[in-house]
Amino acid sequence: MIYQRSSALFAEAKKVIPGGVNSPVRAFNAVGGDPIFVKEAKGAYLYDEDGNRLIDYIASWGPMILGHAFEPVVKAVIEKAKKGTSFGMPTEIETQLAELAVSMVPNIDKIRFVNSGTEACMSAVRLARGFTGKDKIIKFAGCYHGHSDSFLIQAGSGAVTFGAPNSPGVTQGTAKDTLLAEYNDLASIQTLVKANKGAIAAIIIEPVAGNMGCIIPTDEFIQGLRTLCTQEDILLIFDEVMTGFRLGKGGAQEVLGIDADILTFGKVIGGGLPVGAFAARSEIMGHLAPEGPVYQAGTLSGNPLAMSAGLAMLSELNSKPEIFNSLAQKTEYLHQGFEKVLNAKGIPFQINRFGSMLSVHFTEEPVIDFASSAKGNNETFKKYFHGMLDKGIYLPPSAFESYFLNDALSYADLDETISALEGLSL
Ligand code: PMP
Repeated sequence: MIYQRSSALFAEAKKVIPGGVNSPVRAFNAVGGDPIFVKEAKGAYLYDEDGNRLIDYIASWGPMILGHAFEPVVKAVIEKAKKGTSFGMPTEIETQLAELAVSMVPNIDKIRFVNSGTEACMSAVRLARGFTGKDKIIKFAGCYHGHSDSFLIQAGSGAVTFGAPNSPGVTQGTAKDTLLAEYNDLASIQTLVKANKGAIAAIIIEPVAGNMGCIIPTDEFIQGLRTLCTQEDILLIFDEVMTGFRLGKGGAQEVLGIDADILTFGKVIGGGLPVGAFAARSEIMGHLAPEGPVYQAGTLSGNPLAMSAGLAMLSELNSKPEIFNSLAQKTEYLHQGFEKVLNAKGIPFQINRFGSMLSVHFTEEPVIDFASSAKGNNETFKKYFHGMLDKGIYLPPSAFESYFLNDALSYADLDETISALEGLSL
């Protein structure tokens, strides 16, 4: 495929935007080469600036679960835009989306809308600290909760005691309040909790991880985590930015059968417009301003265009819950197809899959946490990524990401993808 215009646009972008992109993973740093500039998208396909058609497996990193330019969402946004794009005053549609979200997700009474997953997680932690009166939090190596300071703590940084910033600009003062544990390793959390008794406000986790590839929690781990939090008066925060309204109507809580104390959302909840949210029982949400003392705000929060997109998206998913199953089946089909092809090629690999999330790792060992994910062979991954791209298949440009299937993908698209893999020499 030819990507001349994309490369030219990238060169222009780099002159005025750091690294040419507004979010780093778009820049192809992990796989090399210039990023693709997209012109438009419809259903399962991206159309780039050079006129190539690509089958999309990232779905804007999750939100486009029903495919691109999904008619009800587009229509809702256009109609809303004609009536004004922002007021900074309450609107009825905010309550409508809140009611719908609260009715779909188990175990929450109230929800507050923000503009991104980052804001949602940052605010959830502040609320947890305000509610419990404690300062420290525990996060897991390899989990991503947005780019606010408390979460940019180096993965795998030696001991799991005090975190260290992995981004300049994050102060040691902030870093020391974020403790690092290992995913799927209950003992690593128990050790931290014991050493910091009475000081931990919350444990935040991706209940099915997607930011080190797709990693599935063991039953023992996730149930043990819940029990420990209850015993120690620690709030359990499920970061459902990826899993919310994707794994099922009620997200990971419903699928895993575990209740968290605070939930965060992003991606699907906004139908592709900038929306995040955090939610909990009334008892906890009552601590939030203006009801309570924990401050949190936003000029564009609950923006009418964003709310209309979210409402159209969630209404569709709420009325057709079979979509979640059909997406999971498509993902399983892709999994089996890839497995067959990669087995025939005789190279070491692991495929992790949960619902409509999946990732491919070129390693012999099961991928269960950040350390095992990091052992993947990046040279093979690069060949795989670029080989697939050359055949018109757009995969996440890093092994530390999950694929997100969308409902517009047909079985013919999946077959084309599996055949593309068959044709690669890795
Ligand atoms: N949490 C998780 C689990 C995520 O995957 C992401 C983004 N990929 C975020 C939080 C941050 O969301 P945003 O990029 O909207 O700030």
